[in-house]
Amino acid sequence: MNTPDPKNLPFNSPVVPEMVEGGKVIQFQCRKGIACWNACCSNIDISLTPYDILRLKRRLGLASAQFLQQYAVPYELEKDGIAGIKLKPVAGGSACQFMTPEGCSVYEDRPTACRYYPVALLSMRKQDEYTDTHSYALVKEEHCLGHNEPRSLTIDDYRAEQGLPEYDAQGRGWRQLVLKKMSSGPTVGKPSVKSRQLFFMTCYDLDTFRAFVDSGPFNELYDVPEAERQAMLGDSLEAEQALLQFGYRFLRQVLFGEESIALHKEAAEKRREQARAKAQQAEREAAEKLAREEDMRDEGFDD
Ligand code: SF4
Ligand code: SF4
Repeated sequence: MNTPDPKNLPFNSPVVPEMVEGGKVIQFQCRKGIACWNACCSNIDISLTPYDILRLKRRLGLASAQFLQQYAVPYELEKDGIAGIKLKPVAGGSACQFMTPEGCSVYEDRPTACRYYPVALLSMRKQDEYTDTHSYALVKEEHCLGHNEPRSLTIDDYRAEQGLPEYDAQGRGWRQLVLKKMSSGPTVGKPSVKSRQLFFMTCYDLDTFRAFVDSGPFNELYDVPEAERQAMLGDSLEAEQALLQFGYRFLRQVLFGEESIALHKEAAEKRREQARAKAQQAEREAAEKLAREEDMRDEGFDD
């Protein structure tokens, strides 16, 4: 059995859990009326996937930017790198804004981490590969009495009961991007401010990303088949899911150069020409600066 590095776990736990596979049988049940009801939602540290945000903003009838403002806080997924999003607790406290005495007020659309608890998903991948492997860990926290309930089931059955296959499928592209970015380290380097902004908009601010995909400049550069464009520009759940999956492809192309979205040839050549001209200009300026410094040193010697 392997023991995971605690700093890689998606929550803070005093217990270092054991890594297990989906067939592992666990004893657990959370039910209304249990003595610890809502204890877990009173002190939250919940990371959100892009699909969690999509589901919650739809549930609340908010635009993604409004949702982010009211219910989310950004954090650094890696130092100086890409951002993650966490649920924002109530003002001045640590409880979830969606907690009510009856339980979770957004239960059908609750985030992935809430569905998984007390199981944690551990995704790992080898450097520069997209195929990630999954293991799980069971977290036993003192306040959670669900572990004493007389119900046994496998982690795979628990995941199915909690609607996780869909959530995992919708979040996989994002998880792979994050893992690839984290494991590629200096070979890809620190992303520029623009790349970080693109990552944030595409993953977390889906309504702004939709407007971007529908914009003139985007369509002058990218050659997206009309049927595909139409399928992802609507506001149904299916359209937003398609837009999110397209967003993951877009980011793989922009951040890692993995082309899967066709470019209009002329526009792409014009862009490349502009980039070349910009690089030449930067080189010219650097050479002029060097020459000026050289002149100043020579003048110093003359004195
Ligand atoms: S979203 Fe629901 S389940 Fe998750 S912490 Fe908030 S109240 Fe609890
Ligand atoms: S059993 Fe665990 S998950 Fe359920 S309410 Fe209690 S602390 Fe939360």
